[in-house]
Amino acid sequence: MSPATRLPSSRKGLTGCPLNWQEGSRPVSFLLECPLCGPREVTEFRYGGEAQARPAPGSAIADWSAYLYGRDNVAGPERAWWFHRDACRRWFQADRDTITNDVNRVGWLIDD
Ligand SMILES: [Zn+2]
Repeated sequence: MSPATRLPSSRKGLTGCPLNWQEGSRPVSFLLECPLCGPREVTEFRYGGEAQARPAPGSAIADWSAYLYGRDNVAGPERAWWFHRDACRRWFQADRDTITNDVNRVGWLIDD
């Protein structure tokens, strides 16, 4: 099935680039709630990577290397750092499902 045949009749003939659009697909953009400013479009933020425990001072080089360069790149629930680039310019953490983009929890430093 070609991408054009997957388009509903309301989308046929549009000049945008809907090649990746599929029936039932979710939009890429989503709302992220800054602890200070409230809910905003995710385009206002910068992704800062997976939140990880920082190694203790004097830890082995392998531990620091894993902390600095190792990524789990999970498909599912993830805790990550976010920077509110377009407003308060504060860093915070968010628990988000990377598949559905559902944000379950935000906080300055989420501590379970
Ligand atoms: Zn903010």
